[in-house]
Amino acid sequence: MNAIKSSQQQLQYIQDFLIKIADGDYNSTLPVIDEKDEQLLAIQVGINMLVEELKESTISRVFLDSIYNGINDVLIVLNATGEIQNTNNVTHQLLSYSEDELKNKNIDILIQLNDRDAVKNAIRDAFEQQKTQEVAINIITKEENTISSACTISPLLDAKKNITGALMVAKNMSTLITAKNQLRDKNEELNLFVYKASHDLKSPISSMMSVMTLLNNCNNLEEIQLYTKMINECINKLNVVISDLLVLGQINHKALEYEKINLEEIIQGIIESIEFIKDFNDVKIEIEINPEAKYINTEKGLLRTILLNLIDNGIKYKNKSAELSFLKIRILPEKKGISIQVEDNGIGIPENQQDKIFKMFYRATSTSKGSGLGLYIVRTSVIKLGGTISLSSALNVGTTFKIYIPEMKEVN
Ligand code: ADP
Repeated sequence: MNAIKSSQQQLQYIQDFLIKIADGDYNSTLPVIDEKDEQLLAIQVGINMLVEELKESTISRVFLDSIYNGINDVLIVLNATGEIQNTNNVTHQLLSYSEDELKNKNIDILIQLNDRDAVKNAIRDAFEQQKTQEVAINIITKEENTISSACTISPLLDAKKNITGALMVAKNMSTLITAKNQLRDKNEELNLFVYKASHDLKSPISSMMSVMTLLNNCNNLEEIQLYTKMINECINKLNVVISDLLVLGQINHKALEYEKINLEEIIQGIIESIEFIKDFNDVKIEIEINPEAKYINTEKGLLRTILLNLIDNGIKYKNKSAELSFLKIRILPEKKGISIQVEDNGIGIPENQQDKIFKMFYRATSTSKGSGLGLYIVRTSVIKLGGTISLSSALNVGTTFKIYIPEMKEVN
């Protein structure tokens, strides 16, 4: 380097170096300017020591920004009046606002009306008492969607511990809350299940015990035959409930294996398996399969369970006063799957019971000898296959169940 002669030049040189340091460049050191000038040497050593110190104690802006944008929560810096000063990338992605759209706006635009006071109070506490507050709030996105959020508002301090802002960290709790609600519903369902299952298992056992007492004290053959028939009915009832519970257990625990299923074949198989049930011969079964819906990739066992229960119900709940009872099974192609319609002209289901019949152990008619689990099993199976189920029914006219089953890609 050329010698820096004039003191003006020396000062300019030091000043330029200090500007570089002020810009955050701590990687260079100030070289010796004039080795004969002791004062300048002392300044040079002092500045270089300061740079070393700064290098060790300063967190770079890039480093801070990467932390700020790396956190997967909404981060918003607010001033004392609740105006937005800074926002991170997650805020923009999750709430669909750009940085400019939020800058200097009051935080109220993001907060549901009845939560605004809580946020305002938390900002005040951060500024006045340097306190951190936690509030559960609903955040509103630009498209006016609501996001449940666990939010922390804490003071931001400078080096002298003066408050410079409030940092709002909002965690998206929507998935957690949905999971919690699902867990609560499942728990309620489980409680109901234990209660109803034990009731449905206990009542035939209690009846059997009473009949057994009568049987023990009886010598008359006719009476013995009657009691035995009663016990047999109780055993049948137990068998129906236990068999349905077993099916339910299998549905919930069995891993799904998909295969290409011929719908005609599966329906014929079901009909053959139930041709000995009561009333089978009184119901005319018609099958109509659209050529474009002859096959589907899905879980065979579940599809069979769905069809079996619906066909069985269509026969069981036939209308005794109908001239000709019928059951029409229609299979049609539908968007990326098939639609199955099972229509009967049976007794129908009263309107006020239609939303309850898919519940566990629910029987809409006192004449039902079933477990009340059939349609619950159907609905559980349909959901497991990723499909949907709906019904339309009118009392004494008939019932139509409509099911959509999506085509599964995977074939084992
Ligand atoms: P169940 O074992 O009683 O047949 P399900 O769960 O299969 O139980 O059906 C629930 C109730 O819905 C039945 O008790 C019956 O009242 C009514 N139901 C189901 N299918 C039909 C139908 N096709 N026609 C009329 N009522 C029906």
